[in-house]
Formats: sequence, structure tokens, C-alpha cells
Amino acid sequence: MTDKSSNEQDIVGNQDSRLALLARYTPNMVMITDEAGCFDWVNPSFENYTGYMLQDIRGKRVGDVLFGDDTDPETIKRIRQKLYENEAFEADLLQYTRSGSPYWVHSHCFPVGPEQGVKPGFIAIQNNISDRKNSERGLRIAASVFDRSHEAILITDHNNRILDVNPAFSRITGYSRNEVLGLNPSILSSGRHTPAYYRSMWHTIERTDHWRGEIWNRRKNGEEYAELLSISRVHLDHPGQFYHVAAFSDITALKNHAKELNRAANYDVLTGLPNRQLLEERLRAARSHADRLRRGLSICYLDLDGFNTINERFGHAAGDEALKTLAERLTQTLRSGDIIARIGGDEFAILLHSNASDHVFQRILGTVGDTLTLAGESITLTGSLGVTHYPDDNSDAEGLIRHADQAMYSAKEKGRNQIHFFDPRLDEHRRKRRSQLMDIDRALENEELELYFQPQVNLHDGTITGYEALIRWNHPELGLVAPKSFLPAVENSHLEVPMGQWVVKEAIHQLNHWREAGTTLSVSINISAQHLMDRSFADFIETYLRLHPDLDPGLITLEVLESTALEDTQRASNVLSKCRCLGLQVALDDFGTGFSSLTYLRTLPVDMIKIDQSFVFNMLEDASDRAIVESVIFLAQRFAHPVLAEGVETMAHADALKHMGCNFVQGYGIARPMPAGEVLDWTRQWQQLLDEEGPDAQHNPASSFVQR
Ligand code: C2E
Ligand code: MG
Ligand code: MG
Repeated sequence: MTDKSSNEQDIVGNQDSRLALLARYTPNMVMITDEAGCFDWVNPSFENYTGYMLQDIRGKRVGDVLFGDDTDPETIKRIRQKLYENEAFEADLLQYTRSGSPYWVHSHCFPVGPEQGVKPGFIAIQNNISDRKNSERGLRIAASVFDRSHEAILITDHNNRILDVNPAFSRITGYSRNEVLGLNPSILSSGRHTPAYYRSMWHTIERTDHWRGEIWNRRKNGEEYAELLSISRVHLDHPGQFYHVAAFSDITALKNHAKELNRAANYDVLTGLPNRQLLEERLRAARSHADRLRRGLSICYLDLDGFNTINERFGHAAGDEALKTLAERLTQTLRSGDIIARIGGDEFAILLHSNASDHVFQRILGTVGDTLTLAGESITLTGSLGVTHYPDDNSDAEGLIRHADQAMYSAKEKGRNQIHFFDPRLDEHRRKRRSQLMDIDRALENEELELYFQPQVNLHDGTITGYEALIRWNHPELGLVAPKSFLPAVENSHLEVPMGQWVVKEAIHQLNHWREAGTTLSVSINISAQHLMDRSFADFIETYLRLHPDLDPGLITLEVLESTALEDTQRASNVLSKCRCLGLQVALDDFGTGFSSLTYLRTLPVDMIKIDQSFVFNMLEDASDRAIVESVIFLAQRFAHPVLAEGVETMAHADALKHMGCNFVQGYGIARPMPAGEVLDWTRQWQQLLDEEGPDAQHNPASSFVQR
């Protein structure tokens, strides 16, 4: 500097201060050290960024202040070497701020000394490259993810040409990276999905930039596999420029496992046929399908006849073989789309997609009957087939199977190798009957039943000979219900005997009640055929009478319904004889309506014949009815049985009957059936009328009996 002019010095001085300004304002970090590498000066950028103030670090070694745990030791060694050799160097370095945060710098360091007119030492200029280092790191991580992912990753351009694939892709598909670069991923297509499926996939990607789903593809070796695939469209800064990233994993094993589970839940292990659960599911679908096509379905239930004897004779393993063979044969017999399921041991259900005709069912039984060889022996099986047709039988899937099952039971009842068709109307009737029986059972328990009484009168002197007990149901909602509305349901049911016994007890209870009130009356009790034929009937009557020794059995008449054909006339005759021995009377009710009236007349020990009201109603106008009534009366007289005519609605009827020789009458013309509580009053009034004389006598029905 000594040999420079002052002007020059000015300029140089000027330049120095400009350089000082440069050092002050550059965003780069500038440090000046002494020969030993200890801080001598740092610029404000250094101070600002690192947090170290010059006065705090002056004289300290740079490495001690800025380097830290993760600063690369190799780099540090190299720097030390350079410094030692007084040489310039460049390096990327990880340094630490005062607060301990790491940051990356690219450092230029060069030695200075007397040649430059300064104290010997180093100047280092560092620029912060943390951002670049971080993004390099991010890229390195991304690359390692790409390379090491277990998911296959496939990158395609906007024309869907493969740009890159990762190793997992090659592992799953069997294609190397080089084999597929530039190709369309459709090389993987298995052909399992329709073009529409892929169209919809691309449509979704266009709209949402994303798609996720399962796809069946094919590996290089031809094997199909299932993948769970997600495709993302990634847009680049340039408009209209994008690429696709597809990632997928191989879920074939998972799928197979799910299939196994499904198989276990829905298929029969022995035959491999669908089980009941799957059948129901298929039937539900078939039902809606049939509705849409306005078509029918047939549901069959097949049960092998006497299959347990096969098991007993040949052993269970052989039985299983037979079932397997049969399952295969039946499957072959059916049309594609029809379904056969194994429902239980030797029970199969078959779903036919139409209202199949009879020959189809015959064919099924025919297949069952095809010869089988078991343990070297030829055997033939038979089966019972129950069938129901949808929509005639408009039940749900479960109901349809149940009805086919019911029909199968009916087929069994017919014998071996039979077919029975479920009848929905009959079933409806049965269901109604079942529910009615339940109601009646409850009615018995709740004492809703009541006996009404209708007088029976002697045609010659008008005296009351007895009352017929007639059942009524005081229904809580329907009011008074007549027997014709509920007795048909009771007929041949488990309620017939309990109800019959109730009637007997109740009628006798009333009889006793009236007697205790001072009036002795007779009562006729209707006895159903089943009740009469019940083994306990005579014993029941006997026991009951014994419990009521005051009661005169002669006051009780059993009315046996002639119209209900008595299966075993001999036995009926025995029972009735026994009852007569106990002192009871027997009347043959509804005479003339049954099939063997004359036989009954001859064989049954009876005290009275009741002519059915159907002949009486029209006998005044209808010559044939009149002839029947006359003949019955004639017959009864020949057998020396008194006759009672029912359904006497007018005095003209009574008059005609009297002339024909009929003994007793009963009918609305005298009185309608009445509650037990009215019987005594009515009896009294009737007696009074009988006793009455005078001008009005003609108008009262009682005295008209006497006058004629
Ligand atoms: P049934 O034993 O022949 O009884 C006579 C039926 O004729 C009674 O009908 C009675 O109300 C009706 N009747 C009587 N006079 C006339 C008439 O002048 N005109 C018309 N149109 N009908 C008349 P109900 O009470 O409805 O009984 C019907 C049938 O139900 C009885 O016929 C009997 O077979 C049966 N039944 C009634 N109560 C019992 C019972 O306690 N046990 C059994 N097993 N059957 C009973
Ligand atoms: Mg009767
Ligand atoms: Mg009758």
C-alpha cells in the first residue's frame, strides 16, 4: 500500500469499505480465521443465522463451535488436512447453530496471508444449502420407498405407457422392469373384467383423479391373481400434463381364504353342494328374479326312504359314498341354473327356475332310483318328493322350503317313491284352524263357553220333556258365536274330548241347579263321534255319576250325531249299551242325513230318533221331504222308538207331525235356545199357558198343542 498514490489509496480505501459492505450485506456467511483456524471475524449473516456473536467466539476454533455429532468425520479430517497444508477447499458440511439446530452449508475456504497484504489465516464463505439437502433426502427416501415397498408401484404417462415400475411389481407380476417399460399395463389383463368395468374405472379417474378397487390380473406365467389396486392421477405444473401412479398388492391369498370361509359357511362338506343357508339366499334372489320375469319357481324337498337301513347295513362310510354319488347324479339331471342343496343327512332341496312339469319330478325320483353299487352289491334307493310352486305359494324363501318339506311328509305318508304337491289353500285352511283351536282352547280356560237350552215338547199333551243343551261361545270381540262357526275346527282335534267333557259337566251342573230350585227337568247332551269313541267315555260318565249319587241318570239323554259316520258301529254300540246300563237315554240325532241310517237303527241301542230339521222345514210344500218324514216315523214306530222332529218353526208343522204320529217336537215355533238362567221362568210360563183357558188360548202355542 505504501507505493500507491493517495488518490489510488482513496479509491482502494473506498474499495475496502465497499468490500466491507459486501461482507456485511451478503446473505452468505463469511468468517475470517487466524492461522490456527480460530475465529477472527464473522459477518452479520453468520451471526444472525448461527446465533453466535463475534465477541463470544473470537479466538475459538471453528470446528469446536460449529461442528457437531453428525458432522461427517471424514470431511472434518479432510478439512484439517487442507488447512494444515494451507490449501483452499470446498465441502458440504453439517454444522450446528448456537441453539443446536443442524444446517447444511456449502463452504469455500481459502488461505490468505501477507501476499494479499493481510494477516495469515483463512476466509471461509458458506452458503446455506439445507433446503437442497433436505429435498435430496426426501428424494432418497422416496426412491427407497419405491424400491423397497411390498406394494407394486407402476408409473405411467398420460398415454398410459409404463414409465417405471418397482421391484415389487416384478416380484408380483413376474415381468422385469425392462420388459414392461413403454408398454400399456393392459398386458396384465386377465380378461375377467368387461370393457365396461375398465371404462367406468377410467371415468372415475377422469372425474376424481383417483380409483380404488379389486382387479383380477394375470402374471407372466399365466396364473391369475387378485390385486387391490389404487390409481392416482398426478398433475404436473404444465397444464394438461399428468402421469399416473398405480400401487397394488397381491390379495389372492386373502381372497382364497375368504373363499374357504365362504365355502365352509355355505357348502356341505360331504357333497360340495350348497347348504340350506346358501339355498335360502339363492331362493330369495330367484324369487325376485322370477317376479321381474313374471315366471314361476318350483321348490322340491327330497328325502330318501329308509336311508338309515343303508347306513346300518353297509356302514356310514358307504352311506356317505351313496349320498355323494346321488348328489352328483342329481346335479347332472338338473338344468344349469337350477340348484340342488343338501339340507340334512339324507335330505336335499332343489330349486327349479320354472313351474316345472310332472315329468321333471318323475325324472328326479328316477335318478334317485338308479342302481348304486355299495360294497359290491347293487342297491336301489327311493325318495319322497314334496313340491311347492311359487308364486301360487306366495311365501318367503324360508316358507317355501318349509312348505316343500311339509309336502314331502305328505308324500311319505302315501308310501315310498311318491310325490306330493303343497296346496296353499289347504295350508291357509290349516293355519286358520290351528289359530282357531288356540282361541278355543283359551276360551275353555277363560270360561267363555256357555250352554243354551232349547225345550223339547210332547206333541200330545204339550208338556216339556226336556231341554237340549246347545253350546255357544261368548267371544270377547265377536259376541255370541254359534257352534257351526267353531265346532268344525274342534272336530277330530285334541280339544274334542275336553270340550265334550265340559259340556257334559256343565249340562249336569245346570240340571242339579234346577232340581235344587225345585224343578226336575231332563237334558239332552250332544256327543260328538270322537268323544263317544274315546276309550275313556263310558268310564268318565260312570265316574261322574258316581260322584253325584243324587242325580237320576234317566234325566240325561245322549244325542249321538248320526251324520258323523261312526267308524266302528260295533264299538259305538257297546259304549252306548254301557251308558244305557248306567241309566242314561240315547237319541239318534239328525236321523236320515248319514250314510247308514238304517244300519244304525238296527245296531245302535237307542231310545229315541230325532228327524233332522232339513226334512222338516219344507215338508209342508215338498212331497219328497214329507215322504221321508213319514217313512222315518213309520220306521221308528216299527222299531218301537219314539220320534222327535227338529226344526219345528210353525204350528202347522207341529200339526202335520202330530198327524203323522210323531211324538215330540223341538223348534223355534216353541222356543229358541235360551240361556240357562231363563229356563226356569220359561218352564213356568209354558206350564201356565198350558193350564190357561179362555178366548186367548187359541193364540198361545202351548195350549194349541192341547187343543188339537
Ligand atoms: P243339533 O244337535 O241338531 O241341534 C239343533 C240345532 O237346530 C241347534 O242349532 C238349534 O238351535 C237349531 N234349531 C232348533 N230349532 C230350530 C228351528 O226351528 N229352526 C232352525 N233353523 N234351527 C233350529 P245350534 O245350537 O246352532 O247347533 C248346531 C249343531 O251343533 C247341533 O245340531 C249339534 O250338532 C251341534 N252342537 C251344539 N251344541 C253341541 C254340543 O254341546 N256338543 C256337540 N258335540 N255338538 C253340539
Ligand atoms: Mg242335537
Ligand atoms: Mg239335530
